[in-house]
Amino acid sequence: MPEVLDGVVVAAEIKAEVAEKVRALAANGVTPGLAVILVGNVAASEIYVRSKVKTCAELGIYSEMLTPAETVTTDELLAMVAELNQRDEIDGILIQLPLPAHVETRRLLKAVAPEKDVDGFHPVNVGRLQSGQAGLQPCTPAGVMEMLRRRGIDVAGKHAVVLGRSDIVGKPMAMLLVNASATVTVCHSRTVDLTSYTQRAEVLVAAIGRPGFVTEDMVRPGAVVIDVGINRVTDERKFVEFFGDDPARRTTFAKRGSVVVGDVHPEAYRASSAYTPVPGGVGALTIAMLMANTVRAASLRRGLP
Ligand code: NDP
Repeated sequence: MPEVLDGVVVAAEIKAEVAEKVRALAANGVTPGLAVILVGNVAASEIYVRSKVKTCAELGIYSEMLTPAETVTTDELLAMVAELNQRDEIDGILIQLPLPAHVETRRLLKAVAPEKDVDGFHPVNVGRLQSGQAGLQPCTPAGVMEMLRRRGIDVAGKHAVVLGRSDIVGKPMAMLLVNASATVTVCHSRTVDLTSYTQRAEVLVAAIGRPGFVTEDMVRPGAVVIDVGINRVTDERKFVEFFGDDPARRTTFAKRGSVVVGDVHPEAYRASSAYTPVPGGVGALTIAMLMANTVRAASLRRGLP
């Protein structure tokens, strides 16, 4: 039976450590602070942001939410970020993505002070990651590395295949794996004969946003499978294709009208030696890593250990 890499358990470990660090900072008179900018009324974004703010409260991190309307201009958002950059009680600034089409996302992400860039998207932090220097790293791939480290999975010398090359997940994931001495292949929508790569992967990370894309025949027996994808299934036929007669999922589907599935077909997990489930895998780690980054930013900015 493959090992289930339980993100909820690892997230709880990380959060307990963060809470401990928050207490240590309090002894130095410092309360870490996170500001979240949420533009407009995207339901999924609102859920994510609420959960981030709630986790801050649980761990003793100060947080505030700025909620400009959908019509806000890039210049207005730049002014908001500039003010947050100046405020000493704010250690982390997070701009919830996606932003409305008229907003210049890249310009805005670049305006966040690198030392407050808890999402790790600023070019300075991207460069630090690339050159192996200490900095703030994107939460989702950093969470995957934490999971591997805490569960004793050493990637050094292993062949890791990353599916997806986004700036948020795929590219930083590949860089973190390279920095951990894995031999890394990055695949994307233009990769020819993708299966020939996945079948050789000792560590397979799927981050493409395609429900159940990775099937059992694509997984090398005994591989570690990290499923980053979060895809909503609302169609009955698709439900059956992915979950068959799984009674727990059926109950959720009946209650909510949808269930989530990863980028890996649930049946494909059985070929692995260990895998992250969806839900309850990588997704659970992302917020914990955001909290860790906020506390790290608070310490680094003040020159504290
Ligand atoms: P993006 O849409 O930004 O990137 C998707 C990547 O997958 C692209 O590089 C694309 O290639 C590649 N791709 C798409 N289709 C295929 C295909 N058929 N074969 C090979 N490659 C393909 O997505 P994100 O990176 O933002 O997110 C990926 C997934 O991870 C999503 O399901 C998302 O919901 C989830 N996610 C989960 C998080 C978590 O906390 N667990 C956090 C962030 C994301 P190309 O570049 O050529 O277009």
